[in-house]
Amino acid sequence: MKRRFYIDYPQEHFEGHAHRYRCAFCKIETTRINGHLEGHKPDCMYRQAMVHAGFEMEDGVGITLLNTSDEED
Ligand SMILES: [Zn+2]
Repeated sequence: MKRRFYIDYPQEHFEGHAHRYRCAFCKIETTRINGHLEGHKPDCMYRQAMVHAGFEMEDGVGITLLNTSDEED
C-alpha cells in the first residue's frame, strides 16, 4: 500500500507558536514532515505503526531496500 500523503498523525502546538504544529510523537514540525512518512524520525511511533501496517514510504527510502535480491545481473 502507498499513500500520496500521510497527515493523520497526532499533532500538537509548538509552545508559544500558535500557528506552528508538530508531530506529537517525534516532535518534527509539520512543515518539515510535509505529509511524508520519512519526514518523521525513524523511531516515531506513528511512522513505525504505518510501516508495520504495510504502508510504504517514498521511493528509495526504507522498505525498498529490502527488495534488492532479484536485481543481480
Ligand atoms: Zn512523527
